[in-house]
Amino acid sequence: MRVKIEVTGLVQGVGFRPFVYRLAKRLNLAGFVLNLDGHVQIEAEGAAAAVQAFVSALAAERPPQAIISEIRVKTVPDCGDSDFRIVESEAGKTVAPFVAPDLALCADCSREIHTSGNRRAGYAFTNCTNCGPRYTIIRRVPYDRPNTTMADFVMCPACQREFDDPGNRRFHAQPNACPQCGPSYRIVDARGNELAPPGQDPLTAARSFIASGAIVAIKGIGGYHLACDARNEAAVARLRRRKLREEKPLAVMCGSLAAVAQICLVSPAEAELLSGAARPIVLLDKSSAYNLAPNVAPGNPRLGVMLPYAPVHELLLAAADIWVMTSGNTSDEPIAYQDEDALIRLKDIADVFLVHNRPIHRRADDSVARIVRGLPYLLRRSRGYVPVPVALERPVPPLLACGGELKSTFCLAAGRQAFLSAHIGDLENKETFDYYTGSIDHYRQLLNITPELVACDLHPEYFSTRYAQSLPLPKLAVQHHHAHIASVMAEHRLAGPVIGVAFDGTGYGTDGALWGGEFLVADYRQFTRAAHCRYLPLPGGAKAIREPWRLALWLLCELSGPDLINADPAFVNALPPDWPIILRAATKGINSPLTSSAGRLFDAAAALLGIRRVSRYEGQAAIELELAAGTASGALLPYTLTKGHPYQLDFLPAFAALLARGRQGFDRGFWAASFHTTMAAAIVETVRAISADTGIRTAALSGGVFQNLRLLEETIALLERHGFTVYLHRQVPPNDGGLALGQAAIAAAQ
Ligand code: ZN
Ligand code: ZN
Ligand code: FE
Repeated sequence: MRVKIEVTGLVQGVGFRPFVYRLAKRLNLAGFVLNLDGHVQIEAEGAAAAVQAFVSALAAERPPQAIISEIRVKTVPDCGDSDFRIVESEAGKTVAPFVAPDLALCADCSREIHTSGNRRAGYAFTNCTNCGPRYTIIRRVPYDRPNTTMADFVMCPACQREFDDPGNRRFHAQPNACPQCGPSYRIVDARGNELAPPGQDPLTAARSFIASGAIVAIKGIGGYHLACDARNEAAVARLRRRKLREEKPLAVMCGSLAAVAQICLVSPAEAELLSGAARPIVLLDKSSAYNLAPNVAPGNPRLGVMLPYAPVHELLLAAADIWVMTSGNTSDEPIAYQDEDALIRLKDIADVFLVHNRPIHRRADDSVARIVRGLPYLLRRSRGYVPVPVALERPVPPLLACGGELKSTFCLAAGRQAFLSAHIGDLENKETFDYYTGSIDHYRQLLNITPELVACDLHPEYFSTRYAQSLPLPKLAVQHHHAHIASVMAEHRLAGPVIGVAFDGTGYGTDGALWGGEFLVADYRQFTRAAHCRYLPLPGGAKAIREPWRLALWLLCELSGPDLINADPAFVNALPPDWPIILRAATKGINSPLTSSAGRLFDAAAALLGIRRVSRYEGQAAIELELAAGTASGALLPYTLTKGHPYQLDFLPAFAALLARGRQGFDRGFWAASFHTTMAAAIVETVRAISADTGIRTAALSGGVFQNLRLLEETIALLERHGFTVYLHRQVPPNDGGLALGQAAIAAAQ
């Protein structure tokens, strides 16, 4: 019996062909396997029982990192083959090939680097077909060594033997290397002078630098980290000062899961996410035994934690070690990844540099995730996840979606695959914008997708929109919140219509106002704005994002009229002296765009509760309001939902209640919790009203405000109690990092 099998999914660069080869040999089958147009093709011939066993084992025993989306089997006439072969791939023809993400060190390789006497003992570039760098080292496809940044390293005879042996774990492991033939680390100062005494291992030297309180720049997989001992307050404070990072928490790397459990609460789902192949930074709650330096995550009950993922990390950190591992950049710039650039840009931050000579072709920041209802929820999608595509319901023409402005990513789609780029950052920075355009060129070439259509945000001033305008292609401008909702729909392959709740900072509306508290009845083709938060002026425009007191001041004025000083003297007395001018300007509508943003309401509540008047990093006020609420239970505050087209949701009565709280010694946790409870209740009442009008029983939640887990979980629970089917993001972030996927889905449907 002979069958022809097509396997689609993530089956290239993850040891799939050698696995097929070994399986065929074990079952005594003849035939061949080859990589073809984005899938693997197999023909297998032999005894019928063996062929059947082969087919079922393909999925059941697949390599750990392979993701199979489909296996198609067809019986074909026997050919009388006597052997099983791996046929070499044809180059450059494939459209939208799967390129594997960077994979964390596997258990087998980990054992080797820790076994004295093994030829890879202590070797920081150990990898195999189940692990190692992929995306960050690939210059072009097909994924063969000459097309990677390993091209300049010639394998020694021992490595070549492994590479050529189909029975070996390193068969066709493109970055295969050993201390004899592969890349190596050096430890240097900012001028490039060697620091390790002759004969000393640079990793040992780096460990002693960290132990003595130094800040070490470490070149890893997707870029440079800045590392120091997380228990050394002087070192952490110095790092914060030099990196110009005032208050935003720093991420740490723990030497083992046991070390994580020493300082944080870890559920089984969190442990699994921490130790999986993608190995993101996972946001965890600190435990009562938490004892890191105060400056790591000041005033924050949570901590971003990751486990070692590159061999160098496993070799550097002992099981009990906890190091700060923050991206190698100053605030707002993209992460450094090229050696000369890193030495220049990081010379005033790092004391020493642990560098290596394997170039990083594309940078990739650490991904950031949380566990929500037992499953991963991504806040930043980058290393370990890109460039794995999101599988679409229907085939789409080749297209490019340019994304948003902050936390930007773009999306290239073709066929049934949407490739969302790695996290790029905030485009208003020139360096970041160059990185953005360079990445688009790289992805186009890598994925062999030539867009015939370009989608962008409706905002005319976004740099991504201007980039889209510069391309000689048909364009489609997509409303920001429609894109947010479409991105959840695309992930879950929903046809719609759904009731989409898009709560975020701000996005450009079809009426020119700044939307951000939106209820859309949407499918991919169109949307109706069924409800929104009431418009409020944003005194000072963009400034009001960093300065939540501005909208709080407006609300106070609306509630108390001219006597606002007596209404809340503590709040007003802490304002900058020019507040009356700002308020007067807002009354006249000068430099005060109208907004329905839900994010700004959270900010304003934080300001009125005295939690935070000025944010030092994006979203800080809202985050601190969530943290103040914690798990405290709150009361339902009043709000109004006014029927109309669209419905209007007004939280002014809730702010009145916040203001009417006792002045002295009021319980912040209770009031912060009450604000969350009220928001969730108002969302659900609005969704129910829209559902009564439309009959739709499916809700989709998106937008940066849903990074707030207290709000997210409370909203989902309440919606489900009312019988709604609720969808949230699982593969891409709810913030603007997921926007491009929604733009792509909408463009494809037009
Ligand atoms: Zn391995
Ligand atoms: Zn070698
Ligand atoms: Fe947004």
